[in-house]
Amino acid sequence: MASNKLSWHGTVIAVQPRIRLTRSFDQRYHTYLGYTLHLQGEIGDEERGFLVGISEAAQTKHQFRVGDTVSGQSAPVTNPQMDPVDYYKTNSLRLIEQAAREDKPPPWHGVPPELQVYRWHGHRRLNAQTYAAKCGGCIWGCRMAVEIIVDQWNPQQKRYRAETFCYGPKFCSLYKAGPVRKVPGRKGMVWEEEDWVDEDATAHRTMDE
Ligand code: SF4
Repeated sequence: MASNKLSWHGTVIAVQPRIRLTRSFDQRYHTYLGYTLHLQGEIGDEERGFLVGISEAAQTKHQFRVGDTVSGQSAPVTNPQMDPVDYYKTNSLRLIEQAAREDKPPPWHGVPPELQVYRWHGHRRLNAQTYAAKCGGCIWGCRMAVEIIVDQWNPQQKRYRAETFCYGPKFCSLYKAGPVRKVPGRKGMVWEEEDWVDEDATAHRTMDE
């Protein structure tokens, strides 16, 4: 069978964790898929921005960071609602040129930590506009694919959306929470995920962590 993979190369705009968040009313759990490379460059015969999913092992090996020039081959994602990237199943990854600059944070543009560090940090909701305007390149930002099981007694009834989060230090001056998120439930019920949820998820961290 012919491969449907496309060759690409480009500049890394961000390296962030690649996570799917599953919600069921007030319950939630995370599936850690690896990392997302936000790239600006060429894929197939098009010049544009695109998101490539790579494994944790690949990121550990290559230590990608903002400003690197990278190439590889990836296939289009078959279910874009379940994965926050455009392309995955990446192979032939190559670091063509390493970034030279070291920007002063925030945002943080270095090599992201292991996924277990994100798991330990926990996250706070992050305003989608702030993420797009100020945090896009930050290692602590994350735009997750969200799957919502509306009725746990009828798990086929699902909805999908994207949500943005911050795993970064609590002192970050760019941080804005944005509106409280609402999760639809059975029989028209709605769960409002208020500030105490974020406070609880990050209570083990000091302001500097
Ligand atoms: S708010 Fe979070 S994601 Fe945005 S720059 Fe600060 S630490 Fe990074």
